[in-house]
Amino acid sequence: MSESTAAFLYLVSGVLFILALRGLSHPTTSRQGNMMGMVGMAIAILTTLFLAGPSFGGFALIVVGIAIGGTAGAIIARRIAMTAMPQLVAAFHSLVGLAAVMVAAAALYAPESMGIGAIGAIHGQALVEMSIGVAIGAITFTGSVIAFLKLDGRMSGKPIMLPQRHAINIALGVLLVVLVVWFAATESHALFWLVVLVSLALGVLLIIPIGGADMPVVVSMLNSYSGWAAAGIGFTLQNLALIITGALVGSSGAILSYIMCKGMNRSFISVILGGFGGESGPAGGEDMGDRTIKQGSAEDAAYLMANASKVIIVPGYGMAVAQAQHALREMADKLKEEGVEVKYAIHPVAGRMPGHMNVLLAEANVPYDDVFELEDINSEFSQSDVAFVIGANDVTNPAARDDKTSPIYGMPILNVDQAQTCLFVKRSLGSGYAGIDNTLFYKDNTMMLLADAKKMVEDIVKALDR
Ligand code: NDP
Repeated sequence: MSESTAAFLYLVSGVLFILALRGLSHPTTSRQGNMMGMVGMAIAILTTLFLAGPSFGGFALIVVGIAIGGTAGAIIARRIAMTAMPQLVAAFHSLVGLAAVMVAAAALYAPESMGIGAIGAIHGQALVEMSIGVAIGAITFTGSVIAFLKLDGRMSGKPIMLPQRHAINIALGVLLVVLVVWFAATESHALFWLVVLVSLALGVLLIIPIGGADMPVVVSMLNSYSGWAAAGIGFTLQNLALIITGALVGSSGAILSYIMCKGMNRSFISVILGGFGGESGPAGGEDMGDRTIKQGSAEDAAYLMANASKVIIVPGYGMAVAQAQHALREMADKLKEEGVEVKYAIHPVAGRMPGHMNVLLAEANVPYDDVFELEDINSEFSQSDVAFVIGANDVTNPAARDDKTSPIYGMPILNVDQAQTCLFVKRSLGSGYAGIDNTLFYKDNTMMLLADAKKMVEDIVKALDR
């Protein structure tokens, strides 16, 4: 009875997770989606605790685990800056990978406790699931640690290219398959740890060649891997909820990676195999030509925009750093009062995580109808008077369009240079995340507004009031 009730409740939570994903696909329904996900997770946890039944001793351990993990999670969540979210996500993915390795090891050394046979006589199917799960888990673990180090700036974001890296990766991949099959046939503990070792190495090798602007795809790809690792644990533990959730995270992460690849104009297959986008020449290979800039003030910007009929705002990572979104909305409201048409253009990899800009603009109550994706708005720059670039850099860099030697060549960009005037708010002439110079700063129709984004926008608002 309790088993079929548990299966039913897991199914209910699975349906709620699917509805959550559906809700999260649009800003207007995202809160509702989050609620569905939370209810689904509460049902899954309560079902696991009370129906899928640990013994009393197990129950006490779980409570201690939840208390320690929950406290650590709550402290980290309270302290973390919004701009450090990508590295936090990468760190959490590494924990999912590590958990998959540990659960598989526990299953190997104590199979009776998981009902998958006895030591030396573990069911064949369980051995296959266990070895695949541990391999994905170990790859996710080291891959995510490297991604964390790169995103957090503790390791250079530059691609590290080993000679013959594709051959090495393929050889390790083949070795891994052989070891998995061999382990499943023999249940040798030594082979199990060899699978772990090779997978750990593969995780490092897959992520180190990926650099600069290509990191967003890595984050969503590791998200997908962590889902498959969780699904692997689900098979080992024979837990339906974990299998469903893991598969949902795995497949939605893969779909997101695909969408990001399309946004970056990269091949999905080469991303999965690692080390894409690193074959091109050094950053900033383009001739920068005349390096004089035209610098303006908040008053200049206010005058230009108040007299424009159409302004397109392009937010980027710097807006998030400065937390300028509220001041920005105020500025847009004032311009609208003056009869100016104002729209926001969002590049798929602007900021440091998928949807980063959308979240910040929604927080500042920017109407959803004013916010447009790259493909829906790019043709409008040529008919606009002002492109107001605030803390964005790489996503506007024409090197992606024109310079074949650039590491970001091929990535679609927002065509801000086609606006009559391009206003660029940033603090210096420094580069963005990809470390590449931006020729736009030196163009005739560009006016640099060199200041902290929030301060500059607040000053523009004041100037508009005068
Ligand atoms: P960029 O990183 O290219 O540029 C941000 C700019 O903001 C910098 O050049 C910086 O210039 C400026 N800036 C920083 N702080 C401030 C501040 N307080 N006030 C004003 N300006 C500031 O950002 P984009 O959004 O254009 O591009 C995103 C990049 O990040 C891409 O390369 C993308 O691939 C990568 N990435 C994206 C992820 C995602 O999922 N979206 C994940 C990981 C990486 P200055 O110092 O001169 O002020």
